Amino acid sequence: DTIGDNLDRTVAAHRDRDALVDHSTGRRWTYGEFGTAVDGLAAGLLRRGLAKGDRVGIWAPNCPEWTLVQYATAKIGVILVNINPAYRSHELKYVLEQAGIRMLVSAASFKTSDYAAMIEEVRPNCPDLESVVLLGGEDWAGLLADGAAAHAADPSALSAAQAALSADDPINIQYTSGTTGFPKGATLSHHNILNNGYFVGELCHYTHEDRVCIPVPFYHCFGMVMGNLACTSHGAAMVIPAPAFEPKATLEAVQAERCTSLYGVPTMFIAELADPDFASYDLTSLRTGIMAGSPCPVEVMKQVIEQMGMAEVSICYGMTETSPVSLQTRSDDTIDQRVSTVGRVGPHLEVKIVDPATGLTVPRGEPGELCTRGYSVMLGYWNNPEKTAEAVDGARWMHTGDIGVMDADGYVAITGRIKDMVIRGGENIYPREIEEFLYSHPDILDAQVIGVPDAKYGEELMVWIRMREGADELDADSVRAFCTGKLAGYKIPRYVHVVDEFPMTVTGKVRKIEMREQSLELIG
Ligand code: ATP
Ligand code: MG
Repeated sequence: DTIGDNLDRTVAAHRDRDALVDHSTGRRWTYGEFGTAVDGLAAGLLRRGLAKGDRVGIWAPNCPEWTLVQYATAKIGVILVNINPAYRSHELKYVLEQAGIRMLVSAASFKTSDYAAMIEEVRPNCPDLESVVLLGGEDWAGLLADGAAAHAADPSALSAAQAALSADDPINIQYTSGTTGFPKGATLSHHNILNNGYFVGELCHYTHEDRVCIPVPFYHCFGMVMGNLACTSHGAAMVIPAPAFEPKATLEAVQAERCTSLYGVPTMFIAELADPDFASYDLTSLRTGIMAGSPCPVEVMKQVIEQMGMAEVSICYGMTETSPVSLQTRSDDTIDQRVSTVGRVGPHLEVKIVDPATGLTVPRGEPGELCTRGYSVMLGYWNNPEKTAEAVDGARWMHTGDIGVMDADGYVAITGRIKDMVIRGGENIYPREIEEFLYSHPDILDAQVIGVPDAKYGEELMVWIRMREGADELDADSVRAFCTGKLAGYKIPRYVHVVDEFPMTVTGKVRKIEMREQSLELIG
């Protein structure tokens, strides 16, 4: 199946059920309406001369139009290039050129981002870029109206374009979060992301009764695959709480739309739970949800289950390059399995843990580099065969760069990234272990441990801390005193730095690379 064929089946089966709800504007589409809107836009794109294999970029915060563009491009085999809404002109230009984008669909502006002005700035230097369509503008309205009229008069152009597609065609270029460096564009097929969305939804037991609240960005696989594709492949409703994450809007949307499932990276759940009005929201409709993207502190997981009522909440592990999910906890896993591991391998996928030095599989219980293989592995990084060859080996194993440990029953715990591991005086230190311990301090809201250069030990530990509201700032001595006797001496951070916010990616991940850079100045 292609994404378009799959959507057509859902539309036929669930015409009158909600497909898409935009909570902040009150706009909503049933599957019947959504299918019609998608077909009209797809026909409009065809009339603008776009064809299979062409690249169309989308640069906007979450909005219903984002989703329409996602499915309209998929219907005609146009490769959608997701562009991070936090990008600025320099990064935009990079993506436009790197992916050879012919048409860019963009929001005109959002908060402090004047997208239209940034586009005009780079446009003279991007010869591939033939047209720009601003959402909400006249051209966008014309594209929809013209396409809808043409499709109503003669649906054969769209059916012919759709029939010419193969599920193995590239359909999407998604850039990685840029947590460890410059983002890379993963090229994904219908087969890659449709199957992944379907299986993620399957393991969450989605049906047409489910209503999924998606505060995570669409430009990232978490929103567009685990969110949108999981919903449309099961007939569930996609609920957009706000264009960009806000804890209040998210809680309000869950309450107003009686959402059964809620997504987020751990920092989003932390913000929701910490909202001063948290207790006043009715969240009793919640049954499940997904937490993914970065490690979840045990305490946060317990609160999500107990205070948000997400008894079946699932932890997913994945990466953009693998469509994304490869490991997931199941609703019948114990709480302990859901807090201490990322579950077991997903359907039709393989995982192994290898010694990065030798490439040999390590015994169960020992740490090594997690590798994954199966339908979900990307076609490659767009126009970057060297980087592809570094990540995907000759046997199609994706080398994730993450450190994992598999237990006897196949549950995998992620203990960090190879790049974040600290080697102090020859000891391998996994920052996650120390972070988990520090969360047990009543005044600490969040803690992130990094390695900084040290003349004697090679690397020393530094912890960045966010204090709970109203708590006094902790100094290095009191943090060390808290650790003494409970952590081995070499795991006790030497430096402590208290901050209001960590440097973050738009996907809500802490950018340790930036913390390491800033730390060089802090320690002089
Ligand atoms: P970049 O590759 O550009 O440095 P990134 O790796 O953060 O950025 P993504 O593809 O968005 O980009 O994220 C995948 C990574 O997120 C994984 O390799 C892993 O390190 C981390 N991750 C994902 N899910 C989990 C999880 N459940 N627990 C721990 N880490 C996770
Ligand atoms: Mg990565």
